[in-house]
Amino acid sequence: MAGSGKFFVGGNWKCNGTKDSIAKLVSDLNSASLEADVDVVVSPPFVYIDQVKSSLTDRIEISGQNSWVGKGGAFTGEISVEQLKDIGCKWVILGHSERRHVIGEKDEFIGKKAAYALSEGLGVIACIGEKLEEREAGKTFDICFEQLKAFADAVPSWDKVVVAYEPVWAIGTGKVASPQQAQEVHVAVRDWLKKNVSEEVASKTRIIYGGSVNGGNCAELAKEEDIDGFLVGGASLKGPEFATIVNSAT
Ligand code: PGA
Repeated sequence: MAGSGKFFVGGNWKCNGTKDSIAKLVSDLNSASLEADVDVVVSPPFVYIDQVKSSLTDRIEISGQNSWVGKGGAFTGEISVEQLKDIGCKWVILGHSERRHVIGEKDEFIGKKAAYALSEGLGVIACIGEKLEEREAGKTFDICFEQLKAFADAVPSWDKVVVAYEPVWAIGTGKVASPQQAQEVHVAVRDWLKKNVSEEVASKTRIIYGGSVNGGNCAELAKEEDIDGFLVGGASLKGPEFATIVNSAT
């Protein structure tokens, strides 16, 4: 753990679940024993946030998986920051690779979303990460820094930002980055923040890893100095396994 504050573990449920499966997941999370020294956040699909908020222990905070770039209004299909707050969310995930590469969101737009969400008091889980061909072409750092810069150019403060390094080739593929691969990028991200934002932001910001984290590989990853937590997709849909990941740093 290099950033300040607690180890941070987020569960990104993506576009998964039904009322019944989510009730079961919430009940498993409510009965799990979670280390006190960890910030735990789950991100259900929008339509189930109310169900989760009213049944999940307050020990776990709730995040949106996305938010609109400004105040709500005539934006069909979008969800506003105000609505996320109204329904009890404390966080929002922005810049996830599925939003970038499947939906086509661009750096500048994502930066603006982050700035707006922060200005309204939400915490932002700011995702960055390279594709396989970019890693193979030796462009991992360039891509991550470019994405980071778009956040840095837009956000007024980093106090409520958690950076999630999620190599695209590791997301949902079962191909987890090795602890050394993740640590190398996390150090580079911290160094970039030091040079381009401030020493204080670099030392305080939590940098978490995402991409095929599971109950079996989390402990090794958590040992790395600059891995300050995880953003978990598939394995966050299983309550007991998610609890193992939450507790992996201790
Ligand atoms: P995964 O997803 O754990 O299923 O690889 C991680 C993420 O997309 O945040």
